[in-house]
Amino acid sequence: MQNKRVVLTGDRPTGPLHLGHYIGSLKNRISLQDGYECFVMIADVQALSDNFDNPQKIKKNVIEVFKDYIATGIDPQKCTILIQSLVPELFELTTYYMNLISVTRLERNPTIKNELQHKSFANSITAGFLSYPISQAADITAFKATHIPVGDDQIALIEVSNEIVRRFNRVYNTDILVESEVILGKTSRLIGIDGVAKASKSLNNAIFLSDSPEVVKQKVYSMYTDPNHIKVSDQGRVEGNVVFAYLDAFLNDEDELASLKSQYRRGGLGDSVLKSLLNEILQSLLAPIAEKRATIIEETILETLVHGSEVARGVAATTLRAVRDVIGITYN
Ligand code: ATP
Ligand code: MG
Repeated sequence: MQNKRVVLTGDRPTGPLHLGHYIGSLKNRISLQDGYECFVMIADVQALSDNFDNPQKIKKNVIEVFKDYIATGIDPQKCTILIQSLVPELFELTTYYMNLISVTRLERNPTIKNELQHKSFANSITAGFLSYPISQAADITAFKATHIPVGDDQIALIEVSNEIVRRFNRVYNTDILVESEVILGKTSRLIGIDGVAKASKSLNNAIFLSDSPEVVKQKVYSMYTDPNHIKVSDQGRVEGNVVFAYLDAFLNDEDELASLKSQYRRGGLGDSVLKSLLNEILQSLLAPIAEKRATIIEETILETLVHGSEVARGVAATTLRAVRDVIGITYN
């Protein structure tokens, strides 16, 4: 068995990345890229599963997501950044794994159920969307990933992947596939600026890493606080208060946070003071990201992605070969 530590993470290029990605997974990936062999996947094929009628959007966002990676500090010298569709071995693996999990098990998946509520095909789910957790299992196992830095919506999907791994190893009497473990971020589910349970690209309720300082400010000032906190002297609620949810995630000084909460609960702390503080914190987080983004040379982007995908393809091909061998369908 391998004891090498390998990280696989990625994002669907359905839009630019937001603060939820940053706090939920990007930050961990950036720190893991030094001690681990790291693969970062831009999952364009998975993104097509619910955007098959808008492939141009996906193609455009491959580049945006790549820029977000570089701007936040993902380093192509340290980790392999790849485009999923350039590694066709993943889709052959997916096909073999499809035999190892039932349709009922896929339908029971809480993340899928939740996502379906927001999709237009709620009552006629496509085979492609229902089975994206299988393709995610292929992504993870192709690189023999041991650690997956993600937000909490991914826990149920990694469980599916581990189930497939166990079933594969049992059925084919092998140990070539390895199970993986989730590494959750500081805030494993950042709520939307509209108070909806999860900030998400598709719901467009997020502060994007590429938003201008003006847009960030405007989004912060549009956040809900406590509707009954009208006068500064009123007692306020911290629970369910979007500004506090963001302060929980992005204000690193625990003592200051605790004191703001107790002052707000007691009364005497105005919403505008809180919003101005949150705005300042986010502006100083995002300013260096914007600076780094400005240094990206457009002409090199595709070259880096194609190169990363070729490297990844080599690794995935080795796994695929071993998978075919243990299944017993090698003919040459
Ligand atoms: P989409 O709406 O298209 O599904 P998304 O915003 O949910 O987009 P994904 O590309 O599905 O983003 O998620 C990529 C990674 O970011 C996953 O690991 C996911 O758990 C994490 N993530 C996404 N949104 C959040 C959030 N609001 N809080 C914490 N982590 C998040
Ligand atoms: Mg998602």
